[in-house]
Amino acid sequence: MKARLSIILVAAIFACGVVAAPLVGAEEKKRVVFLSGGPSHGFAQHEHLAGCTLLSKRINESGLPIESTVVKGWPTDPHTFDGAAAIVIYCDGGGGHLIMKHLEEFNALVKKGVGVGCIHYAVEVPTGDGGNALLGAIGGFFETFLSVNPHWTAEFKEPSKHPTANGTHAFKTNDEWYYHMRFQSDMTGITPILTAIPPDSTRKNVKDAHGGNPEVFAGVGKNQTEHVVWAYQRPNNGGRGFGCTGGHNHANWSQDDFRTTILNSIVWITGLEVPAEGVKSKRPDAEELLLNIPEGKKKGNFDMAAEVKKIEELNAVK
Ligand SMILES: [Zn+2]
Repeated sequence: MKARLSIILVAAIFACGVVAAPLVGAEEKKRVVFLSGGPSHGFAQHEHLAGCTLLSKRINESGLPIESTVVKGWPTDPHTFDGAAAIVIYCDGGGGHLIMKHLEEFNALVKKGVGVGCIHYAVEVPTGDGGNALLGAIGGFFETFLSVNPHWTAEFKEPSKHPTANGTHAFKTNDEWYYHMRFQSDMTGITPILTAIPPDSTRKNVKDAHGGNPEVFAGVGKNQTEHVVWAYQRPNNGGRGFGCTGGHNHANWSQDDFRTTILNSIVWITGLEVPAEGVKSKRPDAEELLLNIPEGKKKGNFDMAAEVKKIEELNAVK
């Protein structure tokens, strides 16, 4: 009888071991690689490294099964993307965009289903191979002579029902909100996340690669909405992407709803479920926002605390 019990016990432990193995696997964290571009603009503008570092820290503090790292530039270590669930790119765009010298590798990652998020200038690439790569990865891109890049205060009135808007409310920010993107035809696979009406003063009929075009100018007086953040589900469950045209002003990461939208989007492109209340994250104060800004940039009389206060005031409930 005793021997029989031992056999049952051993069998039970063995069974538990077998059952436990997949549970350990299920707890494996999704890996996100942030690719940060170098400095290019004035103080607290296009702060790619500071922005990536802040977002990466908040992702790692989220309590979700996800971990992230920040890489400066395109990685030199070929194993950097091994097992990555998603990459988030925050860099200058156009011909110097980080993907432009690595299109084959980038397209292969997309083909494998790796999620891609592009923030601010990183949504702009030259048409042709570059544009096609971003259309495939995130469903849209800034196309010169079609899209525009004015600074304006966007008022986002109604949060989307998409998971990337979980836990967010109506809000406003002044940013270089590019709009009139080149999207997949018929918006296939695209869900607009942040949409607002740009003021007519941004619809200029000028011949400039970033300044305007007849289609944008034709919207004058029509209160036409434009999408500035979107989520993209690639065809046949081939992975996810998102684009965010804002992110020029570093201080805007202190706006809770903007930051939550982007953190949610990062979680969503890894394939994880976004928490119903959104990704919780601490609002960075002026001191934290000043971290990781390249030393060579001249601060002048820039006052980060005053910028943060302006954003708070802009969003104060009246
Ligand atoms: Zn900018």
